[in-house]
Amino acid sequence: MSSPVPPPSAALPFPGDGRVAVVTGASSGIGAATAERLAADGFSVVLAARRIDRLTALAERTGGRAVQLDVTDAASVEALAAGLDRVDVLVNNAGGAFDVNPVAEADLDSWARTYDVNVLGTVRVTKALLPALKASGAGDLVFVGSTAGLVSYEGGASYTAAKHGVHTLAETLRLELVYDPVRVIEIAPGMVRTEEFTRNRTGSQEKADAVYAGVRQPLVAEDVADVIGWAVTRPHHVNVDLLVVRPRAQAAHHKVAREQ
Ligand code: NDP
Repeated sequence: MSSPVPPPSAALPFPGDGRVAVVTGASSGIGAATAERLAADGFSVVLAARRIDRLTALAERTGGRAVQLDVTDAASVEALAAGLDRVDVLVNNAGGAFDVNPVAEADLDSWARTYDVNVLGTVRVTKALLPALKASGAGDLVFVGSTAGLVSYEGGASYTAAKHGVHTLAETLRLELVYDPVRVIEIAPGMVRTEEFTRNRTGSQEKADAVYAGVRQPLVAEDVADVIGWAVTRPHHVNVDLLVVRPRAQAAHHKVAREQ
């Protein structure tokens, strides 16, 4: 006879038991909302990004510890790792897009910047914190990828190439860590209306507003934070490998319902 399925509370020794969650890119958008969500769920949250003033203000409001971090700087990543004696969850969220150009007009500096923050930065932080994640005995390695890591679209290649890199990084680590107590979770959001992402990408608020024009209810940062919070609070034998989350108005990257 099979043993009875334990109730969810028995299968979830956390949240609220002092598990430590590190969130990169926690100074705005999805990272800030995720830090807030995980703190509300009882995690001890380490908020990391370059803008320490924003991190400090958020940490004061929600609880947690603010740490200045530049994921493109090896010394900065080493300092983050050296300052942590426990890590149970790493949310690799820091990233961004910095141009909208056809490949024929590629700005290679922008490509290098995009690859550095999204891919190399993610590898740096993951490599530095992996020993602690393994030592936790129930580690969670979360990648905030994108639907841009699963499809291609015109004008998006610097970013789609980088996010495809994040996708393959998650897939590779899931294979390499199969004997370790670390889950590898990839969350791939579609259109999320955050304050800075599209402005950084297009270079102006006006162009950023046009991206969302007429779209009924794009996702907001809290929607993605909710999904991340859910994924890392499943019983630890349940691995959410890849979760695509989009607004209902976006059926596919190119198929977005817009109201006139
Ligand atoms: P934001 O621009 O609001 O957030 C990006 C975050 O990354 C900021 O907190 C920024 O903080 C941080 N960051 C940037 N560069 C570095 C660096 N060198 N070192 C450390 N931190 C850095 O964007 P979103 O919240 O919208 O996006 C968050 C993630 O979600 C990104 O990886 C993005 O690619 C992905 N995504 C976003 C979607 C969207 O539509 N918005 C859709 C799908 C995925 P600081 O400047 O203080 O360092």
